[in-house]
Amino acid sequence: MRSFQVCICGQPLQCNEYPTPKPAGTEVLLKVLAAGVCHSDLHLSDGYFDLGGGKRMSLEDRGMKLPVTLGHENVGEVVAVGPDAQGVKVGDRRLAHPWIGCGVCAVCQRGEENLCRAMKSLGVFSNGRYSDYLMLPHPRYLIDIGDLPADRAAPLACSGVTTYGALKKVGPMLTTEPVVVIGAGGLGLMCIAIHKAMGGKSAIVVDIDPKKREAAKKAGADMVFDGGTPDAAAQIVAATNGGVWAVIDLVGSSATARLGIDSLIKGGKYIIVGLYGGDITISLPPFPMRAITLQGSYVGSVSEMAELIDLVKRTGLPPVPIKTRPLEEVNATLNDLRAGKIVGRVVLTPAG
Ligand SMILES: [Zn+2]
Ligand SMILES: [Zn+2]
Repeated sequence: MRSFQVCICGQPLQCNEYPTPKPAGTEVLLKVLAAGVCHSDLHLSDGYFDLGGGKRMSLEDRGMKLPVTLGHENVGEVVAVGPDAQGVKVGDRRLAHPWIGCGVCAVCQRGEENLCRAMKSLGVFSNGRYSDYLMLPHPRYLIDIGDLPADRAAPLACSGVTTYGALKKVGPMLTTEPVVVIGAGGLGLMCIAIHKAMGGKSAIVVDIDPKKREAAKKAGADMVFDGGTPDAAAQIVAATNGGVWAVIDLVGSSATARLGIDSLIKGGKYIIVGLYGGDITISLPPFPMRAITLQGSYVGSVSEMAELIDLVKRTGLPPVPIKTRPLEEVNATLNDLRAGKIVGRVVLTPAG
């Protein structure tokens, strides 16, 4: 099988050939039908996150071992099962939940494997699949997608569950108060669609790119704002009668964090998802005086993934523009993503 791997951080992915693995124990082998290309793959191939102030968080220091095959948004067809793998059979089409923990710690036991301290996430800390085949350690990470098309379902594994997990943190006021979404790339359009599917009241979208603001409007945003204008937060506060209850920041830069926090009404919540990088200095008295919350949100749990797939089966797939490309175009796709040229999502189709 062919696997596109990070061999040296900052260099293009290299295509390496490996023998197709055989599942043992509870393992399940899938032929990869679809592999979404996610913005975080840029950070993973660079090998670091920008912490601001010239500081970096190295992924190798955090446990990423090279070479590693990237790709964490996968749908595949089961082609072989280990002797102890129950509940799946050859021919089943499944979405692979990539946010895998150690399975034994207290955090994993309470069902939040995505917050495990010893994560083995596919395509980050263990091999994912910009590749022909994908091995999962246990059938419990395989979600039945029913009749959903593979290329449109694959992005639910990361951009879908990431936005769903963030939207759930907004709480019951999701259906009664508008939510600001910062960033209208693939993740942003997914967020708008899932917000609507969850019965969200209205979405206000912020992006610096007019093309992306236009795409957000088409996807159902009620209002859009240019995050590049110096008074963007003041515009949002004026348009929402004093500020918003919740902001979901899918960019996560110094500028968007400032904008997000300044857009909140008293009691509001700023939820940061994006890993663009940077830092901010915040005055402390406004925290208690405005009673605001800052909360991080990282991907989602297996149960949230199952809830999301169930929601999508009932309400329809998010209308995020999807383009498919052959597996060989992974490096060109990463370059396009870095240049901001992709509206929606590119999904690679190794089996197609
Ligand atoms: Zn991702
Ligand atoms: Zn764990």
